[in-house]
Amino acid sequence: MRSGVDKMNLNRRETVIPFIPGDGVGPEIMAATKKVIDHAVARSHSGAVVLRWEELLAGSAAHEAVGEWLPKDTLDTILARGVALKGPLMTPVGGGIRSLNVAIRQALDLYASVRPVRYFEGVPSPVKHPEKMNIVIFRENTEDVYKGVEWRSGSKEVIELLAFLKSRMGVDISADSGIGIKPISRTASKRLIRAAVNHAVKKDLKTVTLVHKGNIMKFTEGAFRDWGYELAKEEFNDLVVTEEQIRTSGESPDGKVLMNDRIADNMFQQILTRPDEYSVLATPNLNGDYLADACAAQIGGLGLAPGANIGENAAVFEAVHGTAPKYAGKDVANPSSLILSGAMMLEHIGLDSSAALVVKSLERVLADGVMTQDLARMKDEKGVGTSAFADAVIAAMG
Ligand code: NAD
Repeated sequence: MRSGVDKMNLNRRETVIPFIPGDGVGPEIMAATKKVIDHAVARSHSGAVVLRWEELLAGSAAHEAVGEWLPKDTLDTILARGVALKGPLMTPVGGGIRSLNVAIRQALDLYASVRPVRYFEGVPSPVKHPEKMNIVIFRENTEDVYKGVEWRSGSKEVIELLAFLKSRMGVDISADSGIGIKPISRTASKRLIRAAVNHAVKKDLKTVTLVHKGNIMKFTEGAFRDWGYELAKEEFNDLVVTEEQIRTSGESPDGKVLMNDRIADNMFQQILTRPDEYSVLATPNLNGDYLADACAAQIGGLGLAPGANIGENAAVFEAVHGTAPKYAGKDVANPSSLILSGAMMLEHIGLDSSAALVVKSLERVLADGVMTQDLARMKDEKGVGTSAFADAVIAAMG
């Protein structure tokens, strides 16, 4: 006969979570986050699920240990495990890499950047009704001007390209131009918009809005919009109704997800004037970059906005802010963005009740006015430190 302890060990599920502490404030907010997540998992699964944290090398720590900024082992482990939690990484100056964060997304083909932005009661905000903001931004992560295809003014490539454009296409471009290329493909657009629609359907959200600048860039951003509507018709006919269908046939959304589109500049007005009319935004890379931060500013800043980069084979959950070097090692940084990213990760691996407990406890702490200095100073208060904030979130779990 097995003892009670043996039985418990047999029934216990161990899940391995790779993590990258990151640079600057990364290690502090990662320690705070792991503590909060472990506590939530233990509490909501009564010890039946245990997370085993597996540290991976990236950034300065990797450079010091093995002389590389982003070792192949790190990427292989994330692919093998399917998930990772990541702190911010500084961009090495003169390291030959534009950004380690972008390199990870590209190497693992994490094509969807997912950024949920919602208000937390009690947090100071620059707008009158921050509670009206509850939007998830799905931003295409692999194409657009972020593809990194560009050449310096006067370079051999630019001289050749300008000659080609003039002789073969009849396009005259100023000889002292730098040139960048903006590719937007049907495949990448559709897989991103598909992920956005699936999210809206799963979460019972009302709208998916395609954000684009198609009035000017017809064959890239305009095509993004067209491919979105094409996808809705081909794959989601029973679940999605378009604004156009409602206008032309008087059809009502009737429980379906409404797909509409907005030109990017108008969208920036809409998030200020009518944020409550939008639930999911699907955007090409650059629009999404700007919009995600603009939305986050309305609910109190980047410190409260979590993020995930999701592909077919792996998902990396990360704080959306950078390394905040001036706060490094001082126990003052706000760990909320990483804690909330951790909650997204828990949901992604099927630990929904733990995720909900993390979010609920964070809500309670902020509503009680317990905040780190970045938020507290907007109320002329001093605020608590990183680890004290994490302890408050744990205490709020009961
Ligand atoms: P940053 O996000 O580090 O800082 C912007 C401002 O926000 C600063 O005033 C900073 O002190 C504050 N801030 C950021 N996070 C905070 C937190 N958790 N708590 C309190 N205040 C916080 O952006 P930056 O200064 O432009 O970049 C610094 C480094 O981070 C650069 O090397 C950059 O490449 C990198 N970076 C990394 C990521 C990422 O890993 N995803 C994102 C952005 C920037």
